Amino acid sequence: RFENVSMAPPDPILGVSEAFKADTDATKLNLGVGAYRTEDLQPYVLKVVNKAEQLMLERGENKEYLPIEGLAAFNKATAELLLGADNPVIKNGQIATVQGLSGTGSLRLGAAFIARYFPGVKVLISSPTWGNHKNILSDVGVPWSEYRYFDPQTVGLDFKGMIEDIKGAPNGSVILLHGCAHNPTGIDPTPEQWEAIADELEEKGHMPFFDVAYQGFASGSLDDDASSVRKFASRGFEMFVAQSYSKNLGLYAERIGAINVILPTADLAARVKSQLKRLARPMYSNPPVHGARIVANVVGDSVLFDEWRAEMQMMAGRIKGVRQKLYEALLSKDKSGKDWSFILKQIGMFSFTGLTKSQSDNMTDKWHVYMTKDGRISLAGLNLAKCDYLADAIIDSYYN
Ligand code: PMP
Repeated sequence: RFENVSMAPPDPILGVSEAFKADTDATKLNLGVGAYRTEDLQPYVLKVVNKAEQLMLERGENKEYLPIEGLAAFNKATAELLLGADNPVIKNGQIATVQGLSGTGSLRLGAAFIARYFPGVKVLISSPTWGNHKNILSDVGVPWSEYRYFDPQTVGLDFKGMIEDIKGAPNGSVILLHGCAHNPTGIDPTPEQWEAIADELEEKGHMPFFDVAYQGFASGSLDDDASSVRKFASRGFEMFVAQSYSKNLGLYAERIGAINVILPTADLAARVKSQLKRLARPMYSNPPVHGARIVANVVGDSVLFDEWRAEMQMMAGRIKGVRQKLYEALLSKDKSGKDWSFILKQIGMFSFTGLTKSQSDNMTDKWHVYMTKDGRISLAGLNLAKCDYLADAIIDSYYN
């Protein structure tokens, strides 16, 4: 019966961690998965998360089922964090928010909604993008294609190509956009470019689907990092927005996030929300409560909220520090005159090094540096002490 089942390939991102674990070399470095590490390269639980959990224990909160749409206090907090509490979209009830299983599960709910209500509509994703976008869309049977995003020549945004491909898509397509800190490139459009992208979407009747997995991690400011989404919302787009608290609150394993749909009326928002619940019920019935309570407690308490912001800035600051140090190490070690400044221009957790697959293999096989084969390194897994070593590995891999 199971004879025809073949071995699935390892996941291109999570498989890197498995390979890292199996390596016994002391110099090994895991720059694969985007998870924050301390300067000692240890996982980090935010202090503010511990405080919120303490509060939960003191209150003796129970483990009853949540409603299908999740914890009401979380859904309110997450929509307000995204758009700002005084946003007219929130005041007018024009948003359907359903708690999801982190960013992935929230994207999946949005994709399932598209499959059911907009059959045949194509989703355009950036080339490159986070690998799971393709899996999510393919698994719900939504057709997708790519728009140009990364220009290897400039190691920057291929803005012209992006606009051309958005123009070329069938009217009424869905355009998947990274709200901030694009994964894997670390390259975001400028505010002017966002405006032009919005113009083009409007012109073509396309719908934006924002993936917001790094709010607060790009600039250190929750508001600044949501400015792309808020711009589109203020222009009156109907749109999807998936959120994740894996990175900005370090709640990777709690699987806490949300899918939001912004609509022209409160009545439509209520109907869309009812259908999102209908999609969620047979998939997982209702979401987990622990992470939702943490987020609601942190956002709902002004002291904890301020502490969260400070810790997020600390994390974002540490990553900026290693980014700078890595750049300086490359500059001083590489005598070829190559311009490495793209490393400083990229933002968020990642650097897209431009290393090819075989060069990335050299990084791992010779230098024990674990990274994805698209040339992406997670700076969140790097510390100051290892920057020189990493620069040696990169230069060796580039030129040999
Ligand atoms: N979208 C992007 C662009 C991401 O980088 C990630 C995390 N790597 C996610 C979504 C979702 O992650 P999670 O399911 O852990 O929230």
